Amino acid sequence: MIIKPKFKDFICVTAHPEGCAANVREQIDYIKANKQIEGPKKVLVIGSSTGYGLASRIATAFGAGASTIGVAFERPSTDKKLGTAGWYNSAAFERFAKEEGLYSKTVNGDAFSKEIKDKVIKLIKEDLGKVDLVVYSIASPRRTDPISGETYRSTLKPIGEAYKNKAVDFHTYKISDVEIEAATEEEVKATVKVMGGEDWRLWIDALLEAKVLEEGATTVAYSYIGSEITYPIYWNGTIGKAKEHLENTAIALNKKLKAMNGRAYVTVNKALVTQSSSAIPVVPLYMALLDKVMNEKNINEGCIEQIYRLFKTQLFGSEFKLDSRDRLRVDDFEMREDVQNEILNLWETINSENVTEVTNIEKYRRDFFKLFGFGIEGIDYEKDISPNVEFETY
Ligand code: NAD
Repeated sequence: MIIKPKFKDFICVTAHPEGCAANVREQIDYIKANKQIEGPKKVLVIGSSTGYGLASRIATAFGAGASTIGVAFERPSTDKKLGTAGWYNSAAFERFAKEEGLYSKTVNGDAFSKEIKDKVIKLIKEDLGKVDLVVYSIASPRRTDPISGETYRSTLKPIGEAYKNKAVDFHTYKISDVEIEAATEEEVKATVKVMGGEDWRLWIDALLEAKVLEEGATTVAYSYIGSEITYPIYWNGTIGKAKEHLENTAIALNKKLKAMNGRAYVTVNKALVTQSSSAIPVVPLYMALLDKVMNEKNINEGCIEQIYRLFKTQLFGSEFKLDSRDRLRVDDFEMREDVQNEILNLWETINSENVTEVTNIEKYRRDFFKLFGFGIEGIDYEKDISPNVEFETY
């Protein structure tokens, strides 16, 4: 069939298998063109199929020669629907990894469940014995508590009072004001349940109990802080509360892992176009402006560049440095004073007429399409291809 992009709200409901494979290839090529990462050899990536998790899997496999087990929640194609981008990415990753003799297996299912944790532990025991790095990179709108069976939904809302700011429709480039009502206490709690550190802790506890963590093992989870512009909707909002919980979890896990010389950190990453971040109100316009400002200063990075720098120079390198809240920071370029000052000045000037000049909104749109394998040079989008891409999952 001929596969074209098709939208529903902010999400693209189609994905192109060859385009997704090209995205994975591009990230692998970036890693291979850089110096080896010294460190992880047996890696578990929870949330491995897109965004920062996929970049983490690629960086450790192709940059450190690591065996990787990935956990993701993706859908293969069926008679009625195409597969998800994360499915096609994972299939491509496995193919490329196997071509280079790298061990890689993907567990497809709900990482929040006990069943998937048990499955992963069994796989580690059978194939790897133990793991020395656990990356936690889940972004999800809902989570079912494995003990109570209750399902919680996360929201992206301010706390205390409503938040009004400008936002962009990145299909029409129209700028309009959006107002988001303040979250209820229940919504704050539910967001912390989904995106806070509880599930990360359950994973580490389960891995510890099963004795499948190597002496000196490291675990990281990703966070975001961002700019003054997005504070009300991000850092001071419901998701920020969840990230605060994630940070506190890191501190508790770090203490727990000390007994085996292990370590646990939250890493603060840069804002980047992913399936999850494009759903946050106001943030896409901020990202389009950030991209422009950082490009002009020659300090821009994508997921793979961020994760490579994190692993190569900080986590397993000589520039390891924690901030005052025991976090690693690779959002340092985004947060530079000159970058943020320029963003604050330009933000006020953006309107529907000048948005394509003041910001990189057209590139944002291209980057968004790219997440689903569209708009990639060298791919023939008129070619009749099969949407059925099979690979073995567990
Ligand atoms: P993403 O949407 O690209 O990836 C999410 C991953 O989680 C996918 O692999 C998906 O399959 C997996 N997943 C979701 N629900 C699952 C479930 N129930 N079971 C198993 N797998 C599941 O997201 P991303 O933007 O890469 O975000 C990953 C982490 O990085 C999040 O914690 C996010 O807050 C953080 N982060 C993102 C940004 C950004 O701008 N994108 C910046 C800093 C930090």
